[in-house]
Amino acid sequence: MRVLLLSDIHGNLEAMEACLGAAPAHDLILNLGDLVGYGASPNEVVEQSRRRGKLFVRGNHDKAATGLIDLEGFNPLAGLSAFWTRTQLTKNNLEWLKALPQGPLQIDGLPGVQFVHGSPLDEDEYVVTLEDALSPLMNAAVAVTFHGHTHLQGYFSSDGLRSEVFRPLYQTVGQSENIQFALRDGVRYLINPGSVGQPRDGDWRAAFALFDSQTRMVTFCREPYNLQDAQNRIQAANLPERLATRLAVGR
Ligand code: ZN
Repeated sequence: MRVLLLSDIHGNLEAMEACLGAAPAHDLILNLGDLVGYGASPNEVVEQSRRRGKLFVRGNHDKAATGLIDLEGFNPLAGLSAFWTRTQLTKNNLEWLKALPQGPLQIDGLPGVQFVHGSPLDEDEYVVTLEDALSPLMNAAVAVTFHGHTHLQGYFSSDGLRSEVFRPLYQTVGQSENIQFALRDGVRYLINPGSVGQPRDGDWRAAFALFDSQTRMVTFCREPYNLQDAQNRIQAANLPERLATRLAVGR
């Protein structure tokens, strides 16, 4: 089974469309949460996701925008955009978003693999460093977990003796590019496809990944998209300027 992994689209329709257009052949789309928040196209992203995807886990921004959690723990930019998103979502899209399941999610035909937003132990936890990753890696119910939330493409792995962090090193700046690697037997993984709509690893290109369960290969992908249009929409919606400028620097 070839699973297309999309995470943290954050209302960025242009980035999402570029990823879907460039995606290698796949059997299903799995969305790791945060469909909305920050970006200016929440309804379009939710509708496109509903049409194309079958499997979802919810993210903290999905919960905030639909009123499942209050905005207290959010920084001002995140809180403001969550509130704006709540005012924009149609009733139907809001109800659909609100009903998204909490991770971890496991699916038929993919033994030993699960999907979460933050960490396998806590859907809202940020796993940024190897130190953060050790407990989730060793205590996850299965060996391979795909997660999002940090907007950092890469993986953490451990065979019980040696643990490591992998961040893809790309050769180009603004072009379409892939990096492929094979999962090793006996190794536990926490793999982040990166953020489609608001990357934070210094690379503005939309990030996503493909997992082929037959070959046990993972492909990390970066895809340029129409940044200007995404920024224009943020400005036209009177959202804070910083939400538009940060897209250009991938922060
Ligand atoms: Zn996010």
